[in-house]
Amino acid sequence: MSKIETSTAPAANNANNADAAQTLSLAASDLAAAAASIAQAAAKIAQAVSALSADTDKAAAPAPAPAAAAPSKPAEPAPAAPKAAETGKAPLKGLAALKAASAEKKDAASGAPLKGLAALKAKSAEKKDAAPGAPLKGLAALKAASAAKKDTAAEAPAASAPKPAAPKPAAPKPAAAPAAASKFSKPLNILVCVKQVPDTTEIKIDPETNTLIRKGVPSILNTFDGFALEAAARLKDNNPNVNIYVVSMGPDQAKAILKEAIGICADKAYLVSGRAFAGSDTLATSYILSQAAKKIEQLEGIKFDMIFCGKQAIDGDTAQVGPEMAEHLDLPQVTYGLECKETDDETALLVEQEGEEGKNIIQITLPCLVTFTKPSFDPRFPTIKRKMAANKAEITVIGDSEEEFPDMDRARIGLNGSPTKVKKTYTPEKKKGGIRFVKESDDDTPAVLAGKLFTALKDSHVL
Ligand code: FAD
Repeated sequence: MSKIETSTAPAANNANNADAAQTLSLAASDLAAAAASIAQAAAKIAQAVSALSADTDKAAAPAPAPAAAAPSKPAEPAPAAPKAAETGKAPLKGLAALKAASAEKKDAASGAPLKGLAALKAKSAEKKDAAPGAPLKGLAALKAASAAKKDTAAEAPAASAPKPAAPKPAAPKPAAAPAAASKFSKPLNILVCVKQVPDTTEIKIDPETNTLIRKGVPSILNTFDGFALEAAARLKDNNPNVNIYVVSMGPDQAKAILKEAIGICADKAYLVSGRAFAGSDTLATSYILSQAAKKIEQLEGIKFDMIFCGKQAIDGDTAQVGPEMAEHLDLPQVTYGLECKETDDETALLVEQEGEEGKNIIQITLPCLVTFTKPSFDPRFPTIKRKMAANKAEITVIGDSEEEFPDMDRARIGLNGSPTKVKKTYTPEKKKGGIRFVKESDDDTPAVLAGKLFTALKDSHVL
């Protein structure tokens, strides 16, 4: 039984194979026809590429880049793929024929004509491998021409031209997005004052001494100073030649928020720290910070065009330091700033200010001081890259010595230089829960509820 099966099976298989071979042969001729039309299309593309390349070469002719400037050789149209019979070999049928044709293409010597897509791929590889001077086609040539034009514009052809000795010219990279053009013709310097504050959600007052218990309380960057930093960062986004400096007066721990500020947008940070500054009230603090601004100008060899502060510190809450600094430095000021923008006149700044009945747009002459309150947008976070750089950043510490501040009036700093006398510090009593008059039944009309409210106010002697 098994013998019959084994003897008849090949015969049936042979018949099936013959059918299949015929079908495959038909399919192969279809595919060959398709390949021929692909080849024709490829030839047209090659012609178009060649024409494009010739144009580009013309455009790039004066450029020093040899790859782009070299004479262009028009690409030869890839000949149509020959039919199987034209290869001079016995025709192969079906898939075998296709595979053989493909293998033939792969093995073809470089001079032998390549067919269809293979020809295009080979030409593309040829372009990549081309030594300098060899013609570049299409987009590559356009990119090279554009790179060459850039080099010419830089007026340094010797330094910027690709070296002819290099075996493979680096593939021209896509041009980076152009940086925003600055409206300021000279560098603009902003100083942002930042204060380290205890996280007010965890703040406690020592009932004995009436002072803040700072021990164990996490410290953060004052929220409003984050808004001032964001305003500076936005100016820098539009004007790359803006330099942002940050300064904080406080103990060594304040370096943490200075680093945070660098992570956000600051270029350089200064800490003003010393025993002589301890016990300073807002007037003394603003005086020290004003002196520090002048000191930084001296160290950096610059002048600040703008000083930005938060509207207020979330621990002290006085909102006095900014305006006082403006007075010490004799600067015009805008408080309650939301955002600022450069103007066409680079000696002035436009500040959007929160007003009682809306927003005001104020034009202020530089140099100036602006304090910032909460805008409608969220301030940016430090990026990981900037954060890592900030961790390594050096914070310059300015001490309280005579050498550091030879012109500082010592009678105006520290506890002795502070006219503010604190009589009492206390935690305000928590408000007791109020009474709500809500509709509980249909009888509770607005008039009835208003009547209940009136009675309650009278009973508690408010009315
Ligand atoms: P605001 O005026 O509300 O702050 C407005 C903006 O000014 C801030 O957003 C920020 O941009 C800027 N700014 C404020 N302070 C600083 C700063 N330090 N660095 C950078 N920018 C700043 N505080 C102490 O830390 N140590 C003391 O020993 C001390 N002694 C004091 C003694 C007295 C008698 C008094 C009245 C206060 C004392 N303080 C002390 C508190 C200190 O005076 C205030 O914290 C400081 O003047 C800032 O005031 P403020 O918090 O109300 O800030």
